[in-house]
Amino acid sequence: MPEPSPAPKVPSSAARAGYGALGVDSSQPCPACGKPLPVGKTAGCSARCRAELSRWRRVTALRQALLTIQAQVEDLLDLVGKLHGGRRRGRK
Ligand SMILES: [Zn+2]
Repeated sequence: MPEPSPAPKVPSSAARAGYGALGVDSSQPCPACGKPLPVGKTAGCSARCRAELSRWRRVTALRQALLTIQAQVEDLLDLVGKLHGGRRRGRK
């Protein structure tokens, strides 16, 4: 999976060593755990959070696909219902 990697200004070891000390952009919390993201990181503060985020993205994509399929099925059911309803109503 390609990951956006802006040139890291802070070595990850230093970023990991002290959150509040250096390399912290407090305006950008980690989307996974809510901790301040180290500068240069956009996809989660740690490997664990990035994994969590990618999992979350996958689930969201699946959910979106499911909603699309559901809408299509509902359209089909609607069509079937109309056909059946038409027949029923026109029944002798
Ligand atoms: Zn995090």
